[in-house]
Amino acid sequence: MSALHQRGCSLSANATILIRAAARQYRNTRNPCAPTFAVQFVRLSHDAAPTKAAAIVVGAGPAGIAVVGNLLENTKDGRIVWIDREFHGGRINHTYREVPGNTAVKLFVDYVKALEPFRDIYNSAGTPNAITALEELPQSGTCSLSYAGDMLNFITEGLRKHPRVESIKEQVRSAERDVTSSNWTVSASNNLPYASAPLLVYCTGSHPTEIEADYLPKRLNLDTALTPSRLSELLAEALSKGNGPPTIGVLGGSHSAILVLMNLYAIAKQQPEQIRIRWFPRSETLKYAEQRDGYILNDNTGLKGRAAEFARTNLDGDALATSPAGKFIERHVLLGSKDDQQKTLSSGLKGCTFLVQAIGYTRGKLPSTVVGGREVTGKGLKVNPRTGTLGEDGDGLYGAGIAFPEEVDTPEGGQEMAVGMWKFMKYLKRVVPEWVEKTGAGKR
Ligand SMILES: Cc1cc2nc3c(=O)[nH]c(=O)nc-3n(C[C@H](O)[C@H](O)[C@H](O)COP(=O)(O)OP(=O)(O)OC[C@H]3O[C@@H](n4cnc5c(N)ncnc54)[C@H](O)[C@@H]3O)c2cc1C
Repeated sequence: MSALHQRGCSLSANATILIRAAARQYRNTRNPCAPTFAVQFVRLSHDAAPTKAAAIVVGAGPAGIAVVGNLLENTKDGRIVWIDREFHGGRINHTYREVPGNTAVKLFVDYVKALEPFRDIYNSAGTPNAITALEELPQSGTCSLSYAGDMLNFITEGLRKHPRVESIKEQVRSAERDVTSSNWTVSASNNLPYASAPLLVYCTGSHPTEIEADYLPKRLNLDTALTPSRLSELLAEALSKGNGPPTIGVLGGSHSAILVLMNLYAIAKQQPEQIRIRWFPRSETLKYAEQRDGYILNDNTGLKGRAAEFARTNLDGDALATSPAGKFIERHVLLGSKDDQQKTLSSGLKGCTFLVQAIGYTRGKLPSTVVGGREVTGKGLKVNPRTGTLGEDGDGLYGAGIAFPEEVDTPEGGQEMAVGMWKFMKYLKRVVPEWVEKTGAGKR
């Protein structure tokens, strides 16, 4: 199939026969693989019209999975075209399998139980499975994100077999809204139009933020530093070059930075004298999520789970001076103006072999998105973080997940961005019915 796919442009006649065969197979069977099969072949022909759908969802991480489930629950009819370049459970499964989770196990189970299409997948599966594995863990504790990753893969596979879901493994490059028909058409790597629908949702995720400057040492990718097996391999390789113990700088003081320090400390204590660590937070003291009467203080910004435990006993304030981790970690607090902070950082980094930047996450590049001849997802992208609307209200373009999280009011009167699988689910259960109502998706 891939050879045909590559030669697709010159295979229009053959492709038409294959399209008919695939369409016949799809009509005549309930084979769950058939929708994917049909779509693959339709893409071989330049003449093929894009699949008409109720909605198009780009991204199959925790947010995209939750959007597809909510759309199935809230629409009566029509296909949900679901596009992702991997279908591997997004970053939780692909990148963070070795990371300890920061939310209660129960919230991963709640995510599955929140929607009928997910419950159907669970109820029709054999046991044991990825959900029963989560159910067997202590529900108020945390767990490795490999459990959440397995659960996301399990739900993804079930959704991909759903008769109303057409899943396409592709990179979406562009989307255009036809103002006359009020439909979005999306195109992928090969520039062929894939599908058209009145409702388009981007759940395309974020990646680690990085600053660039001449004085920074070699970059050690945050994703690698969050993965102990890859981190120890990389440091063993650096050590084998015979230039002495590598010194690793860690920039940042929130969840990811603390996890990196935990990983580096675990390596350092096994092989004392093999690595050195310099830590660059903005404050000597750290911020924690704390259970209060009926709510969680700093729910979206404070440290949680194992990272919080490690920080409290090893890193925070005076603890560093006397803790076991403090034997390996040298702290350089970045204080004062931006210039002052930069001076402290550049002098502190002298002699460092690597720098891990754990300073937040930046929305990934969106497909080029055009409404009435105008690009809307460039620098001036309008985002309403209370409704998920992107661009103008009424365009039928929405976003969710870490790239477009919900803005929530805190009990202290501030605002925070709500990032986490259960938080995405709660938000989507509220807004997806509004998206469907506004666009008429699934009713045509
Ligand atoms: C270190 C860390 C730990 C976390 N721990 C937890 C935790 O314990 N519990 C919790 O609930 N949350 C946690 N989160 C928060 C959150 O759940 C994750 O960040 C999650 O991965 C966000 O999901 P997402 O679907 O928005 O994006 P992603 O997981 O990044 O998924 C985006 C998907 O979009 C696809 N994509 C992007 N662009 C295109 C395109 N143009 N065409 C096709 N496909 C495309 C990608 O292939 C990917 O599959 C953590 C986050 C971090 C950074």
